[in-house]
Amino acid sequence: MPGYVELHTHSSYSFLDGASSPQALLHHAARLEMPAIALTDHDGLYGIVQFVMEARELGIHPIIGAEVIIDEGYHLTLLVENTEGYSNLCRLISRAQLDHSKGEAALSWELLENHHRGLIALSGCHKSELAQHILGKNNDAALNAAQRYKNLFGREHYFLELQRHLVGSDKAIEHGLLSLADQLDLELVATNDVHYATPASRPLQDVLTSIKNILPINELGGFRRPNSEFYLKSPAEMRELFSDQPQALENTVRIAERCRFDLDLSQYRFPRFPVENSFAHLRKLSYEGLAERYRKPSPNVIDQVEHELSVIDSLNLEDYFLIVWDICNWARQRGYPVQGRGSSANSLVAYCLGITRVDPISHNLLFERFLSHERGGLPDIDIDFSREGREAVIQYVYERYGEEFTAMVCNVITYRSRSAVRDVGKALGFPAQVIGKIAKSLHRSDIAGLTDKLRRDGDGLPWEHYANFIEQIKGMPRHLSIHVGGMIVTAAPLVEIAPIERATMPGRIVTQWDKDDIEDVGLIKIDLLSLRTLDVVSETIELIKQHEGVQLDPDKIAMDDPAVYDMISRADTIGVFQVESRAQMQMLPKMKPVCFEDLMIEVAIVRPGPTQGKMVHPYLNRRQGLEEVEYLHPALEPVLEETLGVVLYQEQVMGVAQAIGGFSAGEGDLLRRAMTRKRSYEEIEKMRARFVEGAKKNGLSEEVGNDVFDKIAAFGGYGFCKSHAAAFARTTYETAYLKYYHPVAYFTAFLNHFPLGFYAPEVIVEQVKRDGFTVHPVDINHSQPRCVIENGGIRLGFNYVKGIGSASLEQIAEDKQNGPYSSVEDFISRVNLTPSGVENLIMVGAFDALGVPRRDALWKYRELREKQAGELPIGYPEDSIKFKSLTEWETTTLDYEIQGLTTGAHLTSHFREEWDKLGVLTSRELPQTPDGSQVRVAGLVITRQAPSTAKGHVFISLEDEYGTINCILRPHVFQRYKPVATRSSVLVLEGRLVHDSGVINILVERVQSGFDSPVEVRSHDFH
Ligand SMILES: [Zn+2]
Ligand SMILES: [Zn+2]
Repeated sequence: MPGYVELHTHSSYSFLDGASSPQALLHHAARLEMPAIALTDHDGLYGIVQFVMEARELGIHPIIGAEVIIDEGYHLTLLVENTEGYSNLCRLISRAQLDHSKGEAALSWELLENHHRGLIALSGCHKSELAQHILGKNNDAALNAAQRYKNLFGREHYFLELQRHLVGSDKAIEHGLLSLADQLDLELVATNDVHYATPASRPLQDVLTSIKNILPINELGGFRRPNSEFYLKSPAEMRELFSDQPQALENTVRIAERCRFDLDLSQYRFPRFPVENSFAHLRKLSYEGLAERYRKPSPNVIDQVEHELSVIDSLNLEDYFLIVWDICNWARQRGYPVQGRGSSANSLVAYCLGITRVDPISHNLLFERFLSHERGGLPDIDIDFSREGREAVIQYVYERYGEEFTAMVCNVITYRSRSAVRDVGKALGFPAQVIGKIAKSLHRSDIAGLTDKLRRDGDGLPWEHYANFIEQIKGMPRHLSIHVGGMIVTAAPLVEIAPIERATMPGRIVTQWDKDDIEDVGLIKIDLLSLRTLDVVSETIELIKQHEGVQLDPDKIAMDDPAVYDMISRADTIGVFQVESRAQMQMLPKMKPVCFEDLMIEVAIVRPGPTQGKMVHPYLNRRQGLEEVEYLHPALEPVLEETLGVVLYQEQVMGVAQAIGGFSAGEGDLLRRAMTRKRSYEEIEKMRARFVEGAKKNGLSEEVGNDVFDKIAAFGGYGFCKSHAAAFARTTYETAYLKYYHPVAYFTAFLNHFPLGFYAPEVIVEQVKRDGFTVHPVDINHSQPRCVIENGGIRLGFNYVKGIGSASLEQIAEDKQNGPYSSVEDFISRVNLTPSGVENLIMVGAFDALGVPRRDALWKYRELREKQAGELPIGYPEDSIKFKSLTEWETTTLDYEIQGLTTGAHLTSHFREEWDKLGVLTSRELPQTPDGSQVRVAGLVITRQAPSTAKGHVFISLEDEYGTINCILRPHVFQRYKPVATRSSVLVLEGRLVHDSGVINILVERVQSGFDSPVEVRSHDFH
């Protein structure tokens, strides 16, 4: 009885031409007791890693393949027989992708000629070259083509593919193929060109086809497969279907047995760094860095360096460290700021190499959280550069290691609710308005509930199918994008080990695998990230040099300046990295950080994790002396002392495992990993036994051992990586330092790098004004394209005027060298801006200093344009019209409309008289108002937030002339006032004032709109 293996299978990684995931196909193959199965997605190996990993779990033999497109669009099925075949397939796919525009992969015959060895070809589906000739009744062409394939691949590597889908054309194609087999002595193979695991998925396949072709299902016509025969059929079904062709079945098994290739690419991990002895070089650099950082390193420090070097050596990671060191070094030498974040900050060697900027010894960081024998050689190095620096560094890596060896890691974008609603809706032919309405109301309501509601309205649309398909399509791959920073550099050309293709971003190349796939095949990425704050720091330092004549070295500033900590403790932190949000500002006056360790805790604790894990209140209470510091067991005191007995950092889980369970540091990290990953219950339970055993050896009872384990398991999942907190806290301190000592330089730079931080530019400008510095308005002769320092204040740049793009900014920068502008006419004769750009400049007052009122200037400008355009000016004699000058209110609102902020009086100052009559308190009066008072407050909305951890509470921050006001809307209040609370940009709120350890909140009871005006002010909403 012949067996059967499916050799032609499409998964959802055929992007809209396959309705089952690789995993679903494998699970079904397992149910059908198929010993092996091939995955042959279109033009790529996108799903291969997941496929191979899952197949290993299930004990099914995975065959790697792809369906490629040759020259004129003919399909061909290729299967990997051995290592050579694998690199050839990767190269073929990469070239097919790279040589054509995105999404139009195709192979030339010539490429196939050069790279076919180790591949087994099946002649292909009805779109194959043979089938197309046969259907075109061109027998000679079919014969020639078959001969050509046979000559190229050889008889043992080329099979004629028979498919029986009960489609009209099947018979004709098969008839032709059988005659070719006879004439050329070729063998047959049966496949089912599978597009989904079971027939039940056929409707979904139709929806996908419809999305792919941008046509509603009922207009698909020939694009749609005619029946549900394209599912994974059992060997028995295939035996019945091909009972007259037993050899075609037998051949599937034979081919499967020949295809033996194991997807382990760790040997290609990264190139050798070009020095004679990498390890000796790494050691030398480490000690050089050590000497720079420690005047007299203690034996402890030397031991740690030696320990880390030996781990690096035994995991063969020395070249990797050198590659990363080289990248950082290159950037630093060119003046780009660089700093490692994340777990690499646990490493002393990384610190000595200048990859990270925090000293792991003085902050008690644990190297094993970064690297250990137990977790295997997969370090995770994330490096932040300035934005500008990152672009330059990526180019450097491409040039240094070569394009064939380098690519960015891709990110597979999958269907989420909203995209599913849109695409499925269109496929089912739902009216655009209906789709739009549903997509909008998706916010926090599930699709089933939503469609139920809509169905009750009744309009004859197939709601049930809609909801159903949306559920099925969610999570399916949609397209590739670029991972934020992941880059890989490999020893063998990437085009031979991991297919690459064009990214949507011009000039960028991405792998077909995402970061998890990359890790699973044993490759290592380097994360090159950009952090705009570093651009701000570097511009601030430049401005300080220019204006104060001081060269500041961020590595040398004192990290223990009480004045800086005082400012942070007062929550005077608008613009300070990581601690400026509303939530942080609520915490700071209670935490009152006085040293760097406190700042690390501050950065780590205001996160969803610690909030959900209920660590915040115990820690705060203990810190404020309201609660005793307790330890689950005395042995934990040294591990948890720094966080007052609360498990806050992930590294502490490792410490507990060592102190109580007798784990090694590396084993401790395995426990930490198990706890931070979801669904690893079994793994955790295995470790429990080991932990309790260790606890007993340490003289604890089984009960106590279990109890401690339960508690750390409960906390462990929520903890924050300590080394990451340390790396970020360093930047927090630096930005706070710059804000405190060089506020004008800092905020000038800050304003030049939006979007950035938590607030809109408006909030930054108001803060600067409140601090007593002048922000000068945009002025045609004084402003520069960017914001600059002027007379100890900030001069707003043209970059803040709506309608002036970067090209115009460059033009202005260049023309400014030709001297000042004398009038609007002079300006427009020298600089070519869009009319709206010029009008905005006029209306925001950029020409005020030249003495012509804005409305008059605007009128004149429009007249001028009409003249230039050859139109007759509206014939008023020049001086006959007198325009009213703008009122102060009009000036302010124009400022907001055109530049999103005002350098003049705050918007709310215009309401003050009226608000005084209503008894509205200013932010300045709140600290003296007794706790529990019933108050009325008002202001411009700067943030609205509804964090998922707050159970329906909404937080609104208002800003008035004197500062900010924190308001809390409980769920029922928010529901009652939702329309006005979410839309109005100025609000008047009534409620009870609550003082809480230096923080003031208004518990809101009533909400009113402040005024009805078309002014739109951007606030930081619901992020
Ligand atoms: Zn095909
Ligand atoms: Zn196919």
